Amino acid sequence: MTELVIFDNDGVLVDSERLANTILAGLLTEAGLPYTFEEAVRDFMGGSMVSMRQKAEAQLGSPLPADLEDRYHQRLFDGFAHLQPVPGVREVLDQLDADGITYCLASSGTHRRIHTALTAVGFWERFEGRIFSSEDVRHGKPAPDLFLHAASTMGVKPTDCVVVEDSPLGVAAANAAGMKVFGFAAMTAPEKLAAATATFHEMAALPTLIQTA
Ligand SMILES: [Mg+2]
Repeated sequence: MTELVIFDNDGVLVDSERLANTILAGLLTEAGLPYTFEEAVRDFMGGSMVSMRQKAEAQLGSPLPADLEDRYHQRLFDGFAHLQPVPGVREVLDQLDADGITYCLASSGTHRRIHTALTAVGFWERFEGRIFSSEDVRHGKPAPDLFLHAASTMGVKPTDCVVVEDSPLGVAAANAAGMKVFGFAAMTAPEKLAAATATFHEMAALPTLIQTA
């Protein structure tokens, strides 16, 4: 029986991944590590900026500019002026409210990024006080720490949680936490989410998956 739905933010609640990975690929390329949008999605989508820096510096063999994260967030927040919710997710949240199922948010993004994104799409009030960031734990996704922290704070056992994720890193984190996970294969190829309990392509399919979990 599902007591808590834990939503990823980027690519699940807010339609931010195209913008974010375009900006990231541009900044890495400017820093001497040529990256395309598709490669940024493949290597970094779903992870924190801390893990992005570690991976990119290992490839580059030298440190990235110290202000790269600041410039990334500046460009991202400028773009968030036009941010939209993922199509159909508002109706999913309405359905969960009607069914009395609690939900929260667990994201690799910073609290500032989450706040900026949720405010832009009008979701802030729906999640305020139930928001968990990789800043809150030592190890971000794919470690289970963030999801376990969210479940424990919400007072729900991991086996009574379902996670909604669009990245392989997030699916791995949910599996490591012992939670069911539904993989949203909109921008992500379904085979990359094969470790999920189930995958789905449109938000309209999600309430039934949750009800039968
Ligand atoms: Mg995501």
